[in-house]
Amino acid sequence: MIQYSENSGIFDSHAHYDDERFDEDRFSLLDALFASGISGILNVGCDLQSSLQALALSERYPKIYAAAGYHPHNVEDFSEEDFAKLTELFSNPKMVAIGEIGLDYHYGLSQKELQKTVFARQMEYASENNLPVIIHSREASADTLEIVKRFPKVTGVVHCFSGSKETALEYLKLGYYIGFTGAVTFQNAKRPLEACAVVPLDRLLLETDCPYMAPVPHRGKRCESSMIQKTAEKIAGIKGLPVRKVIDAARQNTCLLFGIRD
Ligand SMILES: [Zn+2]
Repeated sequence: MIQYSENSGIFDSHAHYDDERFDEDRFSLLDALFASGISGILNVGCDLQSSLQALALSERYPKIYAAAGYHPHNVEDFSEEDFAKLTELFSNPKMVAIGEIGLDYHYGLSQKELQKTVFARQMEYASENNLPVIIHSREASADTLEIVKRFPKVTGVVHCFSGSKETALEYLKLGYYIGFTGAVTFQNAKRPLEACAVVPLDRLLLETDCPYMAPVPHRGKRCESSMIQKTAEKIAGIKGLPVRKVIDAARQNTCLLFGIRD
């Protein structure tokens, strides 16, 4: 259930409201979230179709922004012809980032070599067009970093961070932001918590990755942007800061990275 207080100032920097799990109540839910004070949502694409849906949502809601890209699970669908259609979406000012892109060796849903090629192609586009990127990296830290380093002009966020604190420090050195989801509240969240401790407040983003990654005590349920409160509480506890300070800093960082007026 949505809580109608305390949501003011929350910016969900990574959401998938185009997901079919929102088909039943997408618009009533988003209306309620904005009425409750949510400041903004970045809806991220995973292929051409979902990127189009993300843009459609951003056109319907002033506080929704969109990103477009091929997720590592969907690289088999990548073609230069479709990529040209996807990049045309950047003529719309609500389209603010390339994402989500990257490497995922956990599920093995697509070939590693193809994942690397498609990831590098999208990084190249981001570099040529001065666009921030949203990176997904799961059990692929070394290869992801190797490709990221080939494009030193590019910056962005490593979302739903699950790497080590050493990896987090490497990304920080390269100018990247680190995004944290409800996963920091999970019982087994040792690594993300260690990473979170070394990420300074001016490099941290909050996100849901909804409908996935609902924080404790909502774990296993469909996630939505108001649940960021629980993630922020956990991070504030680690850093010894007021929750409000974490929420405000994360929103300002999100706006700065994606060129959104706060
Ligand atoms: Zn995602």
